[in-house]
Amino acid sequence: MSDPVINPMRAEAVVRLTDVTRSFEQGGVTIDVLRGVNLAVAPGEIVALLGPSGSGKSTMLQAIGLLEGGFGGRIEIAGIDASNLGKNDRAAVRRDHIGFVYQFHHLLPDFNAIENVVLPQLITGKPRAECEARAKELLTALGLGQRLEHRPSKLSGGEQQRVAVARALANRPHLVLADEPTGNLDEATADVVLRQFLSLVREEGSAALVATHNERLAAQMDRVVRLHDGVLA
Ligand code: ADP
Ligand code: MG
Repeated sequence: MSDPVINPMRAEAVVRLTDVTRSFEQGGVTIDVLRGVNLAVAPGEIVALLGPSGSGKSTMLQAIGLLEGGFGGRIEIAGIDASNLGKNDRAAVRRDHIGFVYQFHHLLPDFNAIENVVLPQLITGKPRAECEARAKELLTALGLGQRLEHRPSKLSGGEQQRVAVARALANRPHLVLADEPTGNLDEATADVVLRQFLSLVREEGSAALVATHNERLAAQMDRVVRLHDGVLA
């Protein structure tokens, strides 16, 4: 019986949100950005998070990425209840399970492509040679085999973003959080980079939650969820 991994009810979730809320105080006014978000993403599933600008996509990814506390409700990552963890424990869950890609690459300007992908692996204690082999493998899979020694400033926007993708996948995360990963690229480049990103994530078997306001790009993913008025539809 063939059973696609896209039914989150059938498999253990890599991320599960239960009634997640997040509010901000601004000038004495409380803005409820997330008003009770529920979502389960299955291992290997690629989910598009759609919503207009200001709808709370980045806020939601920041909460799931455990970048800051301050949310209400429950967030489980790979079966770990991360809702009430302190800063160090949140960092440990992040390191062990999550990779990030942002709209802007945030590569280290003084390090070349391969070093940018090696550095996040070194904190795991893996020998440098293994980290380099892994970096090379990922960068080559993304078509950057001839760009390994280039610094970010010597790469095109699409190439920089592909290095950022390799960096996100370097430690074999169960979950990749991508916030408008091609939002800074022209349409043709965005298409190519997104296709490469999705195919590598699939090959690696990671799950991904990809924020975008682009319906056409969202249609290439396994499932689309929409953020509207602080809840998911
Ligand atoms: P999106 O990524 O969908 O464009 P955001 O998550 O960036 O949306 O923002 C959602 C809402 O939350 C916006 O109204 C924004 O102004 C507000 N917001 C986000 N971060 C903060 C913050 N640190 N302080 C105050 N308001 C914030
Ligand atoms: Mg955003």
